[in-house]
Amino acid sequence: MKGAVLCGPRDVRFEDQPDPRIEQATDAIIRMSATCVCGSDLWPYRGVQPITGPTPMGHEYCGIVEEVGSAVRSVKPGQFVIGSFATSDSTCPNCKYGYQSSCVHREFMTRAQAPMLRVPLADGTLVPTPGVPSDDDLLASLLTASDVLGTGWFAADAANVKPGSTVVVVGDGAVGLLGVLSARQMGAERIIAMSRHVKRQKLAREFGATDIVSERGDEGVARIKEMTRGIGADSVLECVGTQESMMQAIRATRPGGYVGYVGVPHGVELSGEQLFFAHVHLHGGPAPVRRYLPELIDLVLNGKIDPGKVFDLTLPLDQVAEGYRAMDERRAIKAFLRP
Ligand SMILES: [Zn+2]
Repeated sequence: MKGAVLCGPRDVRFEDQPDPRIEQATDAIIRMSATCVCGSDLWPYRGVQPITGPTPMGHEYCGIVEEVGSAVRSVKPGQFVIGSFATSDSTCPNCKYGYQSSCVHREFMTRAQAPMLRVPLADGTLVPTPGVPSDDDLLASLLTASDVLGTGWFAADAANVKPGSTVVVVGDGAVGLLGVLSARQMGAERIIAMSRHVKRQKLAREFGATDIVSERGDEGVARIKEMTRGIGADSVLECVGTQESMMQAIRATRPGGYVGYVGVPHGVELSGEQLFFAHVHLHGGPAPVRRYLPELIDLVLNGKIDPGKVFDLTLPLDQVAEGYRAMDERRAIKAFLRP
């Protein structure tokens, strides 16, 4: 089969890869129904996160189970399944606490931008749906649960979004936009999306943003303070991962408020003294998507949410390189790939 391989900065190739096969009794092989390019794939794509050699890419996936290892019990061939970007056994103490992305047996998925995929720890990692999705919109929305939706949801959960909360979302990528959707589902009263991109502002409003702030840095923080009686927001979702975005999030939070941070940090350094006087709760990390999967799948299947709208570019999988280019140049929010 062929799959996406990152060979150097801005060099994605669709190349021959070994067909995946069952390696452990707990593995499953799935035939991909759809996959996509993640905002976090852009860090190595841009050379910000160095790679050591040709690297197979992709960690968002859903599809039909083709084959399972002898120890797999909860999924079977023919089922449509969705899994997290992090594998989990669902039995260790971290999994039991709901932090499956810190599972003691965790592996970060890769090689998902391909027609077939091996998923380790299939019983703990994969969630089957009651049926096979009947249309493309549903498929796109279910695919988001594998990472971006689950990550936006975790950002809102970690930021303690509650009914009536005032929420700020820093970052207008797919995760930030789905953070807006998540905050709305959790009952936030006011959701301020920080974005200077017209198309993304529009989608943020569709997902439930009540206000848009296009300023950033000091000016952005000043705008949020003006809008929140001078104190800042109850909950701030940090969905970028830069020094500027993290400081913007912390400074836009009111004393006693919460920052949920899910942007993979690149060069972020926090000053102890600044944190001490900021008086905010910080919680974040790689989202425990597996914890939320059953609930998110239900919300999608019941037509309560439509997160698949973040895909504004659909390509055949063999044109995966164009998906990266379009996202890198911010021509696309997120690229949907069809094997
Ligand atoms: Zn575990």
